[in-house]
Amino acid sequence: MTNSKRILVVGGGIGGTEASIALRKKGFFVKLISDREFLYIYPLSIWLPTKEVKLSDISIPLEKIAKGHNFAYEISKVVSIEPNEVVLENGKIYQKGRDFDYLVIALGQDKLKPKGVEYTYSICASPEETIKYSMALEILLEKGKGKLAFGFGGNPKAKEAVRGGPVFEVLFNIDNILRKKGIRNNFEISFFAPMEKPGARLGEKALKILDYMFKKKRIKKYTGKKIKEFFPDGILLEDGTKIESDLTLFTPAGDGHPIIKQSQNIPKTEAGFIKIDKTCQVEGLEHVYAIGDCVSLEGPEWKAKQGHLAEVMAHNVASNIALKEGLIKGEPQYYIDHLNIMCLMDTGDGGALAYRDDKKAILIPMPIIGHIGKKMWGLYYKLYKTGKIPKIL
Ligand SMILES: Cc1cc2nc3c(=O)[nH]c(=O)nc-3n(C[C@H](O)[C@H](O)[C@H](O)COP(=O)(O)OP(=O)(O)OC[C@H]3O[C@@H](n4cnc5c(N)ncnc54)[C@H](O)[C@@H]3O)c2cc1C
Repeated sequence: MTNSKRILVVGGGIGGTEASIALRKKGFFVKLISDREFLYIYPLSIWLPTKEVKLSDISIPLEKIAKGHNFAYEISKVVSIEPNEVVLENGKIYQKGRDFDYLVIALGQDKLKPKGVEYTYSICASPEETIKYSMALEILLEKGKGKLAFGFGGNPKAKEAVRGGPVFEVLFNIDNILRKKGIRNNFEISFFAPMEKPGARLGEKALKILDYMFKKKRIKKYTGKKIKEFFPDGILLEDGTKIESDLTLFTPAGDGHPIIKQSQNIPKTEAGFIKIDKTCQVEGLEHVYAIGDCVSLEGPEWKAKQGHLAEVMAHNVASNIALKEGLIKGEPQYYIDHLNIMCLMDTGDGGALAYRDDKKAILIPMPIIGHIGKKMWGLYYKLYKTGKIPKIL
């Protein structure tokens, strides 16, 4: 099935690649623009620090995805974006009417930059940064002793832009490795976050289990205190407490993408996230859609930005554009109807399946099988994204 409408998708991450696949399936001509040669599978990057995976194990070349699903792609950085014009670093300009009919924005998000953040590493930034963290961790492991701190921050202007799950995952994976090496007693591990109850959006049961794990694994917890500043040897909290740390993994809250913040005519919130309606159409712009981490979400207090949601939005956009073009019949698809949190949280030796929607919040501990399950998901994901098997999850 092919129709004549051309869709330009910007951002080749979890949402952008999925939108390209879904739009192609509806018969549109698709071109994907991204600054990275590969799709970086963030959910699997939690194993980079413990060297359970290499970068090549958790990336999929865009070339393979594009070939598998028959769409065009170009590697270049987008330097400016307006509803009718996308400018690339390589000098190319894509214009509405001449080069595309619809624009789908999937550029992901930036991070807030608290004072001294340069003394920390984030698991949620670039692969290069996570690799630098892995190298610093290796040096400490060779020394055989040290102080490790793990934390995440919040954005008061965009409460859903918090990313805590991966920080817990890396923490528990490193604790597991230290135990396996028999050197856990030589390490002090601290966890910090400014909210009173980090992880609360997963529900009360999840909080109790987290607390239990922290106690069992002797992890010192500092919560409910704002972070004042980071230093090379630790973290200063607003009440004067200093958490000593030789190596700090910190994930600041999400912030709007700089290209979106600079845009004159893409509507955005104060925090720089794109304003969309329930169909993922950008407010007031009939031919522009936005998905994933770069948008501002409506919905319940516990809502969270996830890859899983970025993919739901990608499929909604494909259906909603096809509906607008009269290619299919039916009702528009609303992302809000599919809001939930679903995450297989890995601990290195097992895991837990966390699920939250409007009616329930459950956490199912999955010793051993949780870890294997996440590995299996990674295998499935690579096969699906390269067009070798159909979508089943
Ligand atoms: C460590 C970690 C673990 C996670 N685990 C899970 C999980 O288990 N389950 C889950 O559902 N979610 C998980 N998430 C969240 C999930 O990864 C994100 O919600 C998801 O990646 C959002 O998809 P996206 O396409 O909006 O953004 P991204 O995946 O970040 O993609 C954005 C893309 O845009 C490109 N780009 C950015 N700027 C430009 C530019 N100027 N020009 C061109 N291209 C550009 C980037 O290179 C990137 O390819 C995790 C996140 C992290 C960081």
